[in-house]
Amino acid sequence: MAAMTTRESLAAVDAADPLARHRDAFVLPAGVIYLDGNSLGPLPRATPGRLAEVVEREWGEGLIRSWNAAGWIDGPRRVGAKIATLVGAEADEVMVTDSTSVNLFKLLAAALRLNPGRSVILSEPENFPTDLYVAQGLVELLGGRARLRLEPPERLAAGLTADTAVVLLTHVSYRSGAVHDMAALTAAAHDAGALVLWDLSHSVGALPVDLGKAGADLAVGCGYKYLNGGPGAPAFLYVAERHHAGFHQPITGWLGHAEPFAFESGYRPAPGLARALAGTPPILSLAALDVGVDTVLAADPAALRAKSIALGDLFIELVEARAAGHGLALLSPREAARRGSQVSFRHPHAYPLMQALIARGVIGDFRAPDILRFGLAPLYLRRVDVWDAVEALVEVLEKRAWDRPEFLTRATVT
Ligand SMILES: *Cc1c(COP(=O)(O)O)cnc(C)c1O
Repeated sequence: MAAMTTRESLAAVDAADPLARHRDAFVLPAGVIYLDGNSLGPLPRATPGRLAEVVEREWGEGLIRSWNAAGWIDGPRRVGAKIATLVGAEADEVMVTDSTSVNLFKLLAAALRLNPGRSVILSEPENFPTDLYVAQGLVELLGGRARLRLEPPERLAAGLTADTAVVLLTHVSYRSGAVHDMAALTAAAHDAGALVLWDLSHSVGALPVDLGKAGADLAVGCGYKYLNGGPGAPAFLYVAERHHAGFHQPITGWLGHAEPFAFESGYRPAPGLARALAGTPPILSLAALDVGVDTVLAADPAALRAKSIALGDLFIELVEARAAGHGLALLSPREAARRGSQVSFRHPHAYPLMQALIARGVIGDFRAPDILRFGLAPLYLRRVDVWDAVEALVEVLEKRAWDRPEFLTRATVT
């Protein structure tokens, strides 16, 4: 098939792509092929105008009245209800609040309380570091009343013992893009009496997620990746309705109180998921996230997944056909059903290679120690972008263009 693929044949497929019109919803700078929307989604065209409106009209003119008049106070629940439709949840099961890291802390603590008599948080060594670090911090705070146990993916089921309180997993691996079988692992955890907390940071907005169908207990996810909410956008959390009555999280701030404006001296949790809130929501960031979520809601989820798979298959096919013999090793699952919306390759010179690509306008990212990561967001990328990115990669490899001192110095953020 590779021999038949040309840039022209791909442009023809792009022209017939049912998702093609969504590309116009984004500001995509000329000369850039953006393969990092899995780390920071691009700017939606509607965001600057909406932010100007919130700043100038709602804040500037409405002032404090906008908490009620512009519905600011309702934002976490309202945007949460939109995200709920992307993850197979009910509207009252999702809340937008805080960061993914802070929500992990709240939900892990709540999970230990929901499953008393059990002390183990079970996760995997290659989970996203913040997930593991937050679990370690909670274990330390609880002073021996909880433990973190790490098992490689193939031993997770066997690691489910009678002391396992909660399994903490990221649905799509940030390194390889491998997808966990959410339904199977959730069922195995439940059979062992454990709860499951899914991190959807690399799933939501890129592939279908059905928390309800999987019977998931708890979840968190990120707002600035495939949801295009902007740098530092607030995150979301999910708690299955059946756990709401027993759900207690430790950051018992005033906005999670039953009556915040009664200003009582004692904490009483709000009914439902409102108790997951801690403090005042970041209204400007929330407004940007709202627009970002709308960009995803505007597209058919099945078409998004189909195109994401097509882009990933094409990327792998072209790299293997055109860059063979240059030391790239596929890290992502070859089988599309087991792969999220990114393709990762290992290479001994991954860091300078990625810097050389970025210098040519092909923006992916590097993940330690040797991973080249290419995010393939189906909402705005075209097949010709994949073609051009692989052309650039081949050129950088063939000319050893990465082997220059300026590409070897590591920046603070990689
Ligand atoms: C991006 C990401 C996060 C980010 O957490 P922040 O608190 O927003 O920095 C957490 N978990 C996973 C799996 C991620 O991919």
